[in-house]
Amino acid sequence: MPFYDKDKLKEQLDVEEIYDLLELWGGEPEYTSDGLISQTICHNLPGEGSRKLYYYRNTRLFHCYTGCIDPSFDIFELAIKIAKLQKSEDWDLYAAMNYIAHYFGLEGEEPEQEEKKLADWEIFKRHTIIAKEESGFIQLKEYNPVILTRFAYPRIGSWEAEGILPEISRKNLIGYYAGGEQITIPHFDIDGRLVGVRGRFLSEEKANRYGKYMPLKVGKTQYNHPLSMNLYNLNNSKENIRQSGTAIVFEGEKSCLKMASIYGRDNDISVAVCGSSLSAYHIKLLKALGVREIIVALDRQFQAIGDEEFKRLKNKLIYLGKKYGNAVKLTVMFDKNMITNYKDSPIDQGKEKFEILLKERFIPQ
Ligand SMILES: [Zn+2]
Repeated sequence: MPFYDKDKLKEQLDVEEIYDLLELWGGEPEYTSDGLISQTICHNLPGEGSRKLYYYRNTRLFHCYTGCIDPSFDIFELAIKIAKLQKSEDWDLYAAMNYIAHYFGLEGEEPEQEEKKLADWEIFKRHTIIAKEESGFIQLKEYNPVILTRFAYPRIGSWEAEGILPEISRKNLIGYYAGGEQITIPHFDIDGRLVGVRGRFLSEEKANRYGKYMPLKVGKTQYNHPLSMNLYNLNNSKENIRQSGTAIVFEGEKSCLKMASIYGRDNDISVAVCGSSLSAYHIKLLKALGVREIIVALDRQFQAIGDEEFKRLKNKLIYLGKKYGNAVKLTVMFDKNMITNYKDSPIDQGKEKFEILLKERFIPQ
């Protein structure tokens, strides 16, 4: 069993990784000036609690302002609570550290290294399953692509009706896993290695109960990957992004498929963060291609100008602008005239509206 240094592991988890985990666990996190705010999934199931769970970036601690008897805890203690609530499993600290390290592709030291220099973070790093190259880039664990042969590849009528061409679906190996009643979306890294597979439930009932998109599980293997460490579709769009110096960052995979369907694969400059927030690592991946502008094109997650969701989205975009605006020109597409529908991606209502929103993009501040 690998050895983990709790404090060092915790130091490796930036606010984006914490956001990823809260998103994965159904907390619907959002950024605040001090860190994050989430549903109280510490003592409630997703969808049942209020938004009273805070995460503070400087202390790396959570605080639950309602319900929890011991209201202050770290990410590992939260993982233990979640395991109990959502899986009825009793985890110890080791199980929590192992889960989180595995999720982000960080592995601890093997016991034989233990007596050497435990404090040496370099050794810790050398034994991670993700190889960190000198450039600071990370190679995620690769799944055996043979799994993709176990899926069916029917035409998906509802996606075609939304404007996704069958040849684009085929090219991206969008399939169907009957065992889970899920559409399968393979995720590749920039070099085309299979790093994850996400599933999208076909039935709305299941989608509502378990969340629309989740890592696919086949047998005992869960095909998950840290979303903050990879950009969906970058394997397809990297050359176009390099040439144009511009990237469009969508929220969901389908938006990338729509972009390629509308503009052709040769003009596709899109990537998707897939429920994760835009991480420093995402920016790094794009900057390495020489981008001059990153266009953030998130879903219209608000019903009316000025409602609670509107404020959340606005704060999130301002936060991204502040955080990354010095490193790269960061603009946002924001449907302030509400020409698309609630929860639409900017590309969901077709080319014309997409181009209006593209033209009206601005620097958030
Ligand atoms: Zn709580």
